[in-house]
Parts: sequence; C-alpha cells; structure tokens
Amino acid sequence: MSSLPKMPRVLALANQKGGVGKTTTAINLGTALAAIGEDVLIIDLDPQGNASTGLGIDRRSRTRSTYDLLVGEADLGQVIIETAVPRLWVAPSTLDLLGVELEIAASSDRAYRLRKAVADYAARIAGQPGMPHFSYVLVDCPPSLNLLTINAMSAAHSVLVPLQCEFFALEGLSQLLSTVEQVKGSLNRELTIHGIVLTMFDARNNLSGQVVADVREHMGEAVYETIIPRNVRVSEAPSYGKPALLYDLKCSGSQAYLRLASEIIQRERRIRANAA
Ligand code: ADP
Ligand code: MG
Repeated sequence: MSSLPKMPRVLALANQKGGVGKTTTAINLGTALAAIGEDVLIIDLDPQGNASTGLGIDRRSRTRSTYDLLVGEADLGQVIIETAVPRLWVAPSTLDLLGVELEIAASSDRAYRLRKAVADYAARIAGQPGMPHFSYVLVDCPPSLNLLTINAMSAAHSVLVPLQCEFFALEGLSQLLSTVEQVKGSLNRELTIHGIVLTMFDARNNLSGQVVADVREHMGEAVYETIIPRNVRVSEAPSYGKPALLYDLKCSGSQAYLRLASEIIQRERRIRANAA
C-alpha cells in the first residue's frame, strides 16, 4: 500500500535588497523550528552560499549543490546534508549557481525546476522511514528578483519578507509585492505572503521605532508581532559556522527567533483551519 506524499510547507525568504536579514532568518528560523520539533530543510539559492557557510558546511563538502538540482543533474535527496542541529538539513549552494540562469533560460520549465525537485523528493520518500520527511522548507533567495527567486516563489506556498528597520525599509517593497502578484497570476496561483519580519531593530535608535510604526501602518496584519533585535551575537555566530541558537541560545536574537518560529506555526494552524 502506498501512502500519499506528505508535502512540506515551503516558505521563500525573499527581498531583492541585500543585507536585510534573509540568510540570518533562514538559518535561525530554521534552527528554531527544528528545536521545537519540526523537520526542516534550508535550500540555499544564493550563489554566495552564506546560509551553507553559516550552517558550518565548508565548500569542499558541497560536492552536490542546488546548481546540480536546478540543471537536473541531481535530485534533492542527493543534495541535502545534515547539519549540526538535529532535524535541520541544508541543500547547499556554490558559485556555480551564478551561471544557472543562462543554462536553463531556453527550457520551458525553467521557472519550475525547484518546485519539481521538492515534489519529486516528497513523492519518492513517501512511506520510506530512512529519509527525512520535512515539514518545513525554507528557501534562502539571492538579493535579486531573478530566475532563482522566481523558482523559489513558484515552489513556495508563501513568501516571508525580512525588512530591515532602517530609513528606506519600505522602499522596494512594492516591487517585491508586485513580483509576488505576477507569480501568483501565472506560475503559482496558491502563492501568498506569509508575513513580514522586521529585523535588526535597535531600541536605542528612535528611527527603528518609527520604522516599525510606519511598516505596521502600511502593511497591517502582514507584519509579525515578533521583531528581531540587532544583536552582536547573531552577527558573530556565522563565523563559527553555527546558528545563533547554538552559539548563544540565551541572547536576545536567539530568543526572538524562537518566538518567530512559534508565531509562524500559529499562523500555519490558522491558514490550515481556514482552508479546511
Ligand atoms: P541578506 O541575506 O538579506 O543579504 P544577512 O542575513 O546576510 O542579509 O544579514 C546581513 C548582515 O547583517 C550580516 O552580516 C548579518 O550577520 C547581519 N545581521 C543580520 N541580522 C542581524 C541581527 N539581528 N543582529 C545583528 N546583525 C545581524
Ligand atoms: Mg543572504
């Protein structure tokens, strides 16, 4: 008897601005979700590979990467690597990803490569105890609205947008939201905005508070209650190849990511209840 594939919830962490906290959120939200019992996969879709490095995966052990996945030379089961965090896996990236757009540009399924890889994996492992059955997949996008980000949005149920608490926080958001609308209108009708997470909040800086008020006024309920503070422990952790939650569980940044994880799980429950 075959069991139906259990599809993971796929969240794309996207913002075409660099340095807003996408990768930091992928690593630490992923770790926090794993810490509360979810089986989590982080897919590194940024050629810089910061999520892979921050999870302690050195370049030599990235024998297969998301590049191989997208060009069809490997399947997801061959690409994923276990991390030091129990229940947390990563599909690492390498600089090869820089060339992938050109390589797949001419094929008609170029925007669906990641979606297919995730679905194939779920179908292949259905009912098999040996392989990880992910409940969450977090896709760390590059700082661009290119074909890699489009692949992430096509594969995703929803988009999670990290916004840095800085003066120009909202700038560029409308472009991102209109890209989500376009993907929804063509490639992925189910796509939603999961939420906006404010990052690098500095309580000593008046501007940070103003930005929070501003973003909440414009984006309302889409903004998570949890705000991620600027915290030096969070920025130090990647140089040790560790998530902040392993490096310093008690620091304010780690604690905020744990709160964000439970908020996300609550939102997921609400989404499922509404769909039922
Ligand atoms: P992105 O992936 O959007 O380019 P990153 O997650 O790499 O952004 O973050 C950009 C920089 O900001 C990194 O050096 C990271 O360590 C730092 N950073 C991110 N979040 C925090 C935080 N909460 N506190 C302190 N530094 C942070
Ligand atoms: Mg990044």
